[in-house]
Amino acid sequence: MAADDANDLRRALESNEIIPYFQPLVELRTGLLRGFEALARWQHPQRGVIPPNEFIPLAESSGLHGLLTGKLLTAVFAAAKDIPAHLTLSVNISLTQLTDLTLPRHIRSAAEHAKFPLQRLILEITESALVGNTEHAARIATELKEQGSRLALDDFGTGYSSLRHLQLLPFDELKIDASFVRAMTHTRESRKIAAAIVGLGNSLMLTTVAEGVEDQTIADMLLWLGCDIGQGWLYGRPVPPEQLPETLAERLIPAPPSTPAELHSAAANSTLPLRLEALPTQRLAQLNAIYDGVPVGLCYLDRNLRYVSVNKRLAEMHNLPVASHLGRHISEVIPQKYAQCEPYLLRALDGIPHMGLEISYPDPHRPAVTRTILVSYQPARDEVDEVVGVSISVVDITRRKQAEQALVESEDHYRNAVELSPQVPWTADPNGMILDTSKRWETLTGLTKEESLGTGWVRALHPDDRQATLRAWEKALRTGESLDIQYRIRCRDCEWRWMRVRAAPRRDENGKIIRWYGALEDIGDHKKAEEALRRSEARLQAIFEAAPIGIVIADAPDCRVVMSNPRAEEILHSVVAPLTLIDDYCQESRASAPGDLRDEAQVKPLANAIMSGKSIGPREELRYNDDGTSTWISLTAAPVIDINGKVSGGVIAIQDIDQDKREMHRLEELADALKNKLATHR
Ligand code: C2E
Ligand code: CA
Ligand code: CA
Repeated sequence: MAADDANDLRRALESNEIIPYFQPLVELRTGLLRGFEALARWQHPQRGVIPPNEFIPLAESSGLHGLLTGKLLTAVFAAAKDIPAHLTLSVNISLTQLTDLTLPRHIRSAAEHAKFPLQRLILEITESALVGNTEHAARIATELKEQGSRLALDDFGTGYSSLRHLQLLPFDELKIDASFVRAMTHTRESRKIAAAIVGLGNSLMLTTVAEGVEDQTIADMLLWLGCDIGQGWLYGRPVPPEQLPETLAERLIPAPPSTPAELHSAAANSTLPLRLEALPTQRLAQLNAIYDGVPVGLCYLDRNLRYVSVNKRLAEMHNLPVASHLGRHISEVIPQKYAQCEPYLLRALDGIPHMGLEISYPDPHRPAVTRTILVSYQPARDEVDEVVGVSISVVDITRRKQAEQALVESEDHYRNAVELSPQVPWTADPNGMILDTSKRWETLTGLTKEESLGTGWVRALHPDDRQATLRAWEKALRTGESLDIQYRIRCRDCEWRWMRVRAAPRRDENGKIIRWYGALEDIGDHKKAEEALRRSEARLQAIFEAAPIGIVIADAPDCRVVMSNPRAEEILHSVVAPLTLIDDYCQESRASAPGDLRDEAQVKPLANAIMSGKSIGPREELRYNDDGTSTWISLTAAPVIDINGKVSGGVIAIQDIDQDKREMHRLEELADALKNKLATHR
């Protein structure tokens, strides 16, 4: 059977039944074609297409592998004329071929014959091929590389001592075995292995290629892991050479990205959040730059809450070098704040993120300053969605907090100032709807803010003042003129209190009223005093009217009559007209008493009192009336001194002492008569 098969294979090779199929390799980041892998197919006239794993081992065991490789390479190089020059071609090298020291020479001559540059050739060596004679393998591999071709380690992860192979041979690429890649959507382990291989490839600066990319989800995961090239049904199944133009037309419409701008736009089309330069080292450098450059403290803790990484900014905030964090438990690094953070950390480990925990603490350099930070805890999940750690970001919001605090303080000052003053501020919209009142209004009226807003405040208004108040308010709203009115409001203690209300509109740049600002002033006390004054005035008026003495009030310094009471007119037997000179009434007596040598001051008692600021009198005089009669009067003039000590007027009190005076005279006369009688008797 095996001999028949071997003969059949030989026949097939002679008659070119074994041909390469081509499968595209695509750049994950841009979706652009990178090259093709040539995969052998036996197009059997009777049995149809036979897969390589059914005849490659046969070729090897029957010594036909040299012929097979030669035939395939010839076919591959022949097909290459239809493939653009920037695309690579990968061919598989089998186990036994790596013991054949003539392999590099054969490949070179075939390439030269077909004028195919060896730089475009990638030789895929499976891990299992390396198990045997590593010394020969290393020689052959080195020679292939020296010829300009690249080497890829195929089926990585399936063989054993793989890492040793990576170290031994000068590989350029690492192909992640399809078994891990295809299982990435199902098993966590596969994702982890794929991630680890990509990481390994990146750290060794190898191009990473993922085989078996069957869907976009896997492609996205791989890209996110940093894998470079994808190969699989998602991008195309292996096709026979005659179908190459079709495949190329499908996948190769855009030219390979040559300018950074093109690279950029290709990257922008992808759905992943962050795009960085293609080279893993560049990517790492860029990530590090971002990590350390952002003005945000960042760190990553593992499930045991130990620092796995920390950026410079956070290390600075902790006042510790980066290295002092790594591997240490967070409670060792921030012992004072740990208790506050712990619940959030534990919750994050349970998969619950927490955004914006505010923590305040004294500034280590300036203890007087309180620093405030905003901390967010984000569970970090692996490919299987399992929480593997906590990612922490810390933003220093001290300055913002200080500004906020300053504002609050100034608002407090304002509020306190307002609350202390008798003013009750309020605001209203352009329609007169009250938008805001102060605490004082609530304490004053007992109405809550909610009850007072809009038109609710009217409830506190005295019914008698309502109409006038609302009319004035409407007028102000209509005209935009400021408001200054007084009304009574019902206070908590059920008393009505007088309020003075002033309001002015605030306008926008177009002159449109946007707000009314108003203030109520409790003028209850003022009103009361006014009323008391009015009452005492009335009392004084009554006394003034009814007093048994005449009172004339005059202004200063003119001494003109302001008012007089009826009694004064009675005593003076004359109308005391306002604006007349009061002293003129008094002069009557002098004019009527010739020979009486009284000085000017005495003649004008009120003028004298006003001038001197002192009371004059009482002074008795006999006043001759217009009707020919005479009356004894007593005059007392006194200045009216205001609270500033200024003489603002004068008062003359006039008493009718005529009867007393006449009685006195009568008694005096009687006494004189008696004296005379006594004298004559003696
Ligand atoms: P390989 O080098 O790992 O080739 C990839 C294999 O995975 C190919 O199978 C390919 O058809 C298949 N494949 C590609 N994309 C997908 C996908 O998305 N899903 C799945 N399920 N499979 C996919 P093929 O062509 O049957 O090759 C099998 C193996 O035979 C190859 O594995 C390679 O080791 C070997 N082989 C193929 N051609 C040659 C050759 O010319 N010379 C030598 N020495 N070995 C060859
Ligand atoms: Ca391969
Ligand atoms: Ca493979």
